[in-house]
Amino acid sequence: MPPAPLSDRELDAYREQADRFIAELDEEFYLHYAGLKESFDLSPIYQRHRNLTEPDVVKTIGLSVNGGERIRELWRFACEGYLGELTREHAEKLAALESEIQVSVDGEEIPYRMLRPALANEADRGKRQQLDERANEILEEQMNPIHLDAVQAIQTAVRDLSFANYLELYRKALPSSALDDLAEQCRALLDSTEQLYEEAADRLFRSRVGVGLSEAQRWDVPRLFRAPEWDPMFPKDRMLPALEGTLEDLGIDLKSQSNVHLDLDERPNKTPRAFCAPIEIPDKVMLVIQPIGGPDDWRALFHEAGHTEHFANTSRNLAMEEKRLGDNAVTEGWAMLLQHLTDEPEWLTRRLDFPRPHDYAVEGATGLLYFVRRYCAKILYEVEFHVAEDVTTMRNRYVELLGEALKIEPTSANYLSDIDSGFYVSSYLRAWGFEAQLRAYLREKFGNRWFATRDAGALLRELWAEGQRLRAEEMLKEVTGFSLEMEAVGDRVREVLTRA
Ligand SMILES: [Zn+2]
Repeated sequence: MPPAPLSDRELDAYREQADRFIAELDEEFYLHYAGLKESFDLSPIYQRHRNLTEPDVVKTIGLSVNGGERIRELWRFACEGYLGELTREHAEKLAALESEIQVSVDGEEIPYRMLRPALANEADRGKRQQLDERANEILEEQMNPIHLDAVQAIQTAVRDLSFANYLELYRKALPSSALDDLAEQCRALLDSTEQLYEEAADRLFRSRVGVGLSEAQRWDVPRLFRAPEWDPMFPKDRMLPALEGTLEDLGIDLKSQSNVHLDLDERPNKTPRAFCAPIEIPDKVMLVIQPIGGPDDWRALFHEAGHTEHFANTSRNLAMEEKRLGDNAVTEGWAMLLQHLTDEPEWLTRRLDFPRPHDYAVEGATGLLYFVRRYCAKILYEVEFHVAEDVTTMRNRYVELLGEALKIEPTSANYLSDIDSGFYVSSYLRAWGFEAQLRAYLREKFGNRWFATRDAGALLRELWAEGQRLRAEEMLKEVTGFSLEMEAVGDRVREVLTRA
């Protein structure tokens, strides 16, 4: 019997169960990474909810996809769950390898996961090169065969779902504004910011690493952004007060938000990086921190606080797919809006005794430009990668596209691992555009110190209440009247860099 579309009752039951599935995953994630539970038991949760992502269910929901955005989101969720299930063993094997492998460099044993931090902290260029080469060898020899197997499993599964390839599947799951049109905009942004990037990156490389952009190598990049000299300006004991003060300026009393659970306790197995786990939206949102201080830690806290306030202010009355699914460019956009306060000179002066806030803003803008250009190249690469019959032919294309964008040659060993599943790259890119345009709007409406006005806070809460009902493009249009333009990121960066 050919599959028939699900009835409304069946769809409701599906929504209900998907809601529990995601809540259980978020809770397990929270318990493990907060250091409250040693094991990380995802398998029993997946087992319990296997029926949600079986290929027949995926196909059945696919029959109703033209029934609107909400059903399309349910179908995307089912597809991603199915493909994720097929490659879960690969992911587990890779995670196990990453945590087990020790690398010997100059007679010193370094855990694989510590290679990048070690590289960023290494002042000696020759040693950085050595660390980079060892990491790439391991990636190539031990991990890439697993990555390749996973890609091939996905290709087969996508064809079983009756799509020619992964890109075609996503052309059905996402609007063109999040895929093909976005890629076109990214190509244009790469062109329009090329000279700006070359000049800004050259200046930063010279001051931080002692070589110009033309001599810079990939092992110099983590060093470039590590910049230890700013560490003392971002002390660990002032992180939380700065967040509380920032939210208070916007009319939000963090301590009295009964649905926001601040987890500040020190635990030996707690991850040092801040994270947000929206276990119930909006009723139980965890914001977990173990402050260590330094710019990176501050950025991470404010980023996660953006997710936290978004989910904690989301209206209870929305449907499951408007709270838990939907366009992640929206929640990433809110996260970026708060994160980028930490390189806003006016904000730095208000919150910290900060010398040379403008110099810091220039570094922030250069970093933003680097990452946005990197992601622009990545989406162009991923769009090509997912059409290739034999992905091993894509190695040189990876080096070409990323090398052209960054003027620094990447290692070809990354050509498989540097791919985000589900075109998540599109969410980050549009979040950057969303942030740039929304910030410009807030500045125009509430002044350059918009972040310290109650009116801006009231508007943000109103928009946060919409959860992920609207796509980033739609929300931006509703608020500002403009379409999402990646070029706005170029303007945002240019404004800071050309004032230098
Ligand atoms: Zn995020």
